[in-house]
Amino acid sequence: MRNVVIMGSGCAGNTAAIYAARANLKPLAISGKDAGGQLSLTTLVENFPGFPEGVDGPLLVQNMRKQAEHFGAEYVHGDVIDTDLSQRPFRLNVEGEWVETRTLIVATGASARWLGLESELQLIGKGVSSCATCDGFFYRGRKIMVIGGGDSAMEEANFLSRFGSEVTLVHRRDEFRASKIMLDRARHNPKIKFLTNTVVDEVHDAAKGIVTGVRLRNLQTAVVWEQEVDGFFLAIGHIPNTKVFKGQIETDPDGYILSKGGARTNIPGVFHAGDVQDRVYRQAITASGAGCMAAIEAERFLEAEGH
Ligand SMILES: Cc1cc2nc3c(=O)[nH]c(=O)nc-3n(C[C@H](O)[C@H](O)[C@H](O)COP(=O)(O)OP(=O)(O)OC[C@H]3O[C@@H](n4cnc5c(N)ncnc54)[C@H](O)[C@@H]3O)c2cc1C
Repeated sequence: MRNVVIMGSGCAGNTAAIYAARANLKPLAISGKDAGGQLSLTTLVENFPGFPEGVDGPLLVQNMRKQAEHFGAEYVHGDVIDTDLSQRPFRLNVEGEWVETRTLIVATGASARWLGLESELQLIGKGVSSCATCDGFFYRGRKIMVIGGGDSAMEEANFLSRFGSEVTLVHRRDEFRASKIMLDRARHNPKIKFLTNTVVDEVHDAAKGIVTGVRLRNLQTAVVWEQEVDGFFLAIGHIPNTKVFKGQIETDPDGYILSKGGARTNIPGVFHAGDVQDRVYRQAITASGAGCMAAIEAERFLEAEGH
């Protein structure tokens, strides 16, 4: 029987592990198949406080994990594939083996949606990004492309126009899901050019390990052409990793955990941390802060129950 089990080893899970370990709770962190989480996909992180020169994303999360292990956190590899949160102790199936715990911290993140092109996936963190706040600064005076047709695509395009020499917004339809106000703002921005009824067939240049351009195709005319691009930003949504709790932890219609204040979920003893609950900020530092909150809440919950 564990005091605290943490699901996920991104910024939120690792920070929760540091705090829970230093509270002497001997937490077990289930790292997930994508150990290190989303920061493992990127290269330089320039906005995590404490690193004036920036820090390599994978190194940052590895160091968080080392710090947690140093204080006694234990890690196991693999995904939780099934859960029973209907009674305490909570039960989690980790790739076939059941684990029991008094409290649970869910730090499973929200995965960015990619187009799924092989060339695009090879260039994630090397010019392909899902986070304008994180990576916009790298593209000062450069050519930027944003994919998407919703509010977040308009918001990212507007934000990125502060940096790029030009921003091309590519959308596969000619109608937009974005609200009128967001769409109008983007349409009136002189740096943003719209390409509708258009899809990306390939991102260049995977062989060079850097984005240099894209091959585009107009869905109505079938015309294919090349365009030079330095920064390629996806704004087609995120998928919160909450499937394994479906019907147990309350979520919004998109699957993000609904907070009941602080780090609490609808189930006493189950806490949320990081992007799995946060559809607004989605940053390494906010995820880490949320991991800290969840661990403190778990510790107080256990204390109140006399453990
Ligand atoms: C390419 C890229 C670049 C970025 N750059 C920056 C940046 O420069 N600065 C910044 O602040 N932010 C950046 N971000 C955003 C930042 O990475 C996220 O906000 C942060 O990683 C969220 O942390 P998290 O711990 O909540 O989730 P994640 O990092 O997504 O981690 C989730 C963890 O949960 C695990 N998991 C999922 N399902 C299960 C399961 N069923 N069982 C067990 N484990 C599971 C996963 O394997 C993973 O370990 C970037 C994101 C991307 C994709």
